[in-house]
Amino acid sequence: MLTVHTNPIAPSLIEPTVLLDGLPDVVLVVDTEGCLRWVNAAAERQLRWRRAEWLGRSVLDIVHPDDLAGALASIGTIQGKDFGTPIEVRVADAEGGWHWMEVVGSNQLANDQIAGIVLVVRDITQRRMWEVAGADVARFQQVIQHAPSITMLLDGEGVITSVNGAFTRLLGFDPSVVVGQSLEAFVSDASSPVLRDALRSLGDGGRSLTIELAMKRLDHDQLRPVRFELANLLSDPIVAGVVVSGYDVTELQRVREELEHMASHDALTGLANRSLLLTRLDYYLTVNRSVAVVFIDLDRFKPVNDLFGHEAGDALLREVAERLEAVVRPGDLVARVGGDEFVALSPGIGGWVAASSLADRIESALSQTYDLDVGPVKIGASVGVAISDPFSTVASLLADADVRMYNAKSDRRGMTTRTMVERRRSATERRRLADELTFGLSRGEVVAHLQPILDLATGHLVGVEALARWNHPQLGLLAPGSFMDLVEDAGLDVVLGAAVLESACVAIADLRAKGITVQLALNLSIGQLADPLLCDNMCAVLARFGLEMSDLVIEITERATLARHGSVGMSSPDDTLRELHAAGALLSLDDFGTGYSSLTHVRRFPLSSLKVDQLFVAGMCDHPEDRAVVDVIVGLASALGLLVVAEGVETREQWEMLRHMGCNHAQGFLMAPPMAGPTAVRWIEDHIAARRLIP
Ligand code: C2E
Ligand code: MG
Ligand code: MG
Repeated sequence: MLTVHTNPIAPSLIEPTVLLDGLPDVVLVVDTEGCLRWVNAAAERQLRWRRAEWLGRSVLDIVHPDDLAGALASIGTIQGKDFGTPIEVRVADAEGGWHWMEVVGSNQLANDQIAGIVLVVRDITQRRMWEVAGADVARFQQVIQHAPSITMLLDGEGVITSVNGAFTRLLGFDPSVVVGQSLEAFVSDASSPVLRDALRSLGDGGRSLTIELAMKRLDHDQLRPVRFELANLLSDPIVAGVVVSGYDVTELQRVREELEHMASHDALTGLANRSLLLTRLDYYLTVNRSVAVVFIDLDRFKPVNDLFGHEAGDALLREVAERLEAVVRPGDLVARVGGDEFVALSPGIGGWVAASSLADRIESALSQTYDLDVGPVKIGASVGVAISDPFSTVASLLADADVRMYNAKSDRRGMTTRTMVERRRSATERRRLADELTFGLSRGEVVAHLQPILDLATGHLVGVEALARWNHPQLGLLAPGSFMDLVEDAGLDVVLGAAVLESACVAIADLRAKGITVQLALNLSIGQLADPLLCDNMCAVLARFGLEMSDLVIEITERATLARHGSVGMSSPDDTLRELHAAGALLSLDDFGTGYSSLTHVRRFPLSSLKVDQLFVAGMCDHPEDRAVVDVIVGLASALGLLVVAEGVETREQWEMLRHMGCNHAQGFLMAPPMAGPTAVRWIEDHIAARRLIP
């Protein structure tokens, strides 16, 4: 038997620091803040930190940001006990590499000689790698290989270092070709910058990202949209890369596109719908691109629909859509905005000559005979054109084209047209007028004239409409037609609205004092509806005259309700109207029947009445179509429990016809024109005194 004799060394002969420096693990002492007070030689061997440089620094500085919370918690809890629970954290070496370390602490705060927390830190990177490469690895590799979604590992430069089978199945490339290549080699040119940005942001420390890339296919078939999730594990000592998983979103994209198309197109004709039209027009105006707007209204469409049925009507509309698409230029947009109303947008058009020629082409294309299943059909089209100027808004351009379209229609019928807003003033002239108006408003030149509204059945006065008038020092009394467009463009709506309300209140309060109560109808503009303080300010003015919101009928045009206000600090017309209604005001839809999606608006707002546009009243005695429109409006209103007010009543014949139709109220020159406050008060007193039943 072999006996080995060893000479035991007396413990007191070994210096404790020599012993500690001989340990393979890093041993360090930190204070309660985590600042390094002492460290053994292993720190230099394992982490390359020079002891002298490291002393005094916080150990937390070299812990991986993702592991910091755990490390802090651990320092916190050890203070209450003798030994901490081992934790595993990533720690940076002096060269920027990461190591998985197991750290266990011993609380020596009470020990006078140490007065700190002793940490024993062991590098377990190798052990972790072995764990990963354990028995399950082959099975796990198979799982990844056959997973339905793409799994890849990229290095920091975006080069693919490994890839699973899904990549080949989806795109056709063999893994032997793929590995070692940059991922960018497989994405479309358009997607390259997206990928590069993503990698750059991960390189800058980003944790994870989702991007969508159009991927090339080996067979050069269509590009495949793939959504990739990128997880940054570059600082993980074992993975040391970007883990990418990706799945095919072709189907998702198809559904998304279909939904987008449905939301922006008319189902019957496939043309753009109103919402796309507004967006596109808004875009052209925002980027200062000149654009022509052509408003198209079919003549005699209704008889086709009524006589031959809806199928024929639908076929006709589809044919109209095709003809419109054929005559506009590539890049123009054609939209269907109502039953038989269309709008063509032509960006970058040269001027009135080009725009008129487009309008002529449209008119002539649409008036050719249509060969429908029911036989040949002929209809016509009324066309109105507007061209943008630097002051145009979406609403003003559409309204201009609409007005001109009506003029065209009325001309054809041999009628005198309703006043057309002349917007083609020069820019300097507009600026001068806007300045004058600002000054005029401050001097009280803008006042309300009042026009009585009577009950058609009894002839009794029910209210007055306030209509703005500008007492221009040189030009005399101006009606809104000659300055309202300036008001909108110059943003004077709010000031003008306040002046009109104030001036009308003087007369209404005067009548109140005489024991006469009438409702005041007030027109509100787009700009006023965008003012978040409108309701409060109006209440304040009314209160000064002893009046209330419930004394008001707010008249709005459909154009005003269509306006969108995206800017900060602006209210949406819908919200303002609802606020006014909640405060007691009644709401009335003005100029009803002149285009736009009328029924939608009738349903959208808590309305009490509709005002039939004077165009139809003017034409109703001579044109059956106009009479039919008024009839339909009266029917619609009564079905919905709304009152109908006819404006522009000029003859006894119109008055009688409206009364027979069941229209409720009327307003017009037959009874009285808009009158200055005191004149209106006198007229009303006389009217009541005379107990006149009909005019
Ligand atoms: P509206 O609200 O539809 O007003 C009716 C218009 O018809 C008024 O034109 C009125 O003078 C006119 N009118 C009344 N009776 C007859 C008639 O028998 N025959 C004819 N041919 N016309 C008649 P006005 O005063 O020129 O106002 C035009 C439009 O300007 C108004 O149309 C309204 O939309 C707008 N407006 C007027 N005052 C204001 C205002 O204070 N604020 C805002 N935002 N808009 C206003
Ligand atoms: Mg009105
Ligand atoms: Mg009106």
